[in-house]
Amino acid sequence: MLPTPEQYAAMLDEASAGGFAFPAVNVMSSQTLNAAMRGFADAGSDGIVQITVGGARYLSGAAGDSAAGARALAALAHALGAQYPVAIALHTDHCPPEHADDFLAPLLADSRERRANGDRPLFNSHMFDGSTLALDENLRRSAELLDQCSALDIVLEIECGVVGGEEDGIGAEGTPSDRLYTTSADLLRVADVLGTGYRGRYLLAATFGNVHGLYAPGHVQLRPEILREGQEALAEAHPGTRFLYVFHGSSGSSPEDLRAAVAGGVVKVNLDSEAQYAFTRAAAGHMFSHYDGVLAVDGGVGDKRAYDPRAWGAEAEAAMAARITRACELLGSAGRSIVT
Ligand SMILES: [Zn+2]
Repeated sequence: MLPTPEQYAAMLDEASAGGFAFPAVNVMSSQTLNAAMRGFADAGSDGIVQITVGGARYLSGAAGDSAAGARALAALAHALGAQYPVAIALHTDHCPPEHADDFLAPLLADSRERRANGDRPLFNSHMFDGSTLALDENLRRSAELLDQCSALDIVLEIECGVVGGEEDGIGAEGTPSDRLYTTSADLLRVADVLGTGYRGRYLLAATFGNVHGLYAPGHVQLRPEILREGQEALAEAHPGTRFLYVFHGSSGSSPEDLRAAVAGGVVKVNLDSEAQYAFTRAAAGHMFSHYDGVLAVDGGVGDKRAYDPRAWGAEAEAAMAARITRACELLGSAGRSIVT
């Protein structure tokens, strides 16, 4: 099922209090959506599926319209998610400032209309990624969006610092390496401007050396203690409050770094590259092992049982689902659902 705003809030609160995190799986098609939902259900875990601006543009096909693609994903998830015995929240990933008007604004307008009709919002949460802006401007724009989102019972995710690597065709190569590490002073500035929950609930992608993409071990120098230090600084300034952190670029991270990040208050761990790889690896395995079925070799006609996209699609989905289930086990969300 898809969680109501109240249920989504309960999911995040339980993760924060219980010291676990939800995988947030990037999807861009019905196949990857089904794979993610199945992975969560197999783990008995609540979870989050998300789509980037570029993923939504891809999903929209020839329309080339990201907002239309995100609406289509939401329609699929609302129709199919009801079948699952766990709560699967809907989120939009990285929206840079230049797409706030043509991506976030129309989706928020849809949710406004739905709320006016007594319906739940289209998405449970949206990310605004103002990391290319100066912090003050980032927080000014984030605060405006937080007001809009909280009026609709939507959670906003913001970014403080810069995630390295490349995602969705947007690269941060050449970013000075100190910008890959947020400071406690910057984190407190976020709490000063956006509040500590009373102004609306937000998720915070605070960077601690994380990098998008899949790299050989040792490429990424994570400092999860940055997250813990931020919580300590926040607790001193605003007793009894905690940041709800998001871990971007988790693919390729060691289990120790993941555990340290979750212990520091990460409640949402984005999973993109590893899920993509699991899906494509299984499709490739099918193509190589059914070579003369998926190709019409030497005047043959191939084998419909091998080239039917459902044949290799089912294998790809099963492999991606298994990867999601493993992520739930690693992050501690397996067996935890607000539904049961
Ligand atoms: Zn990210």
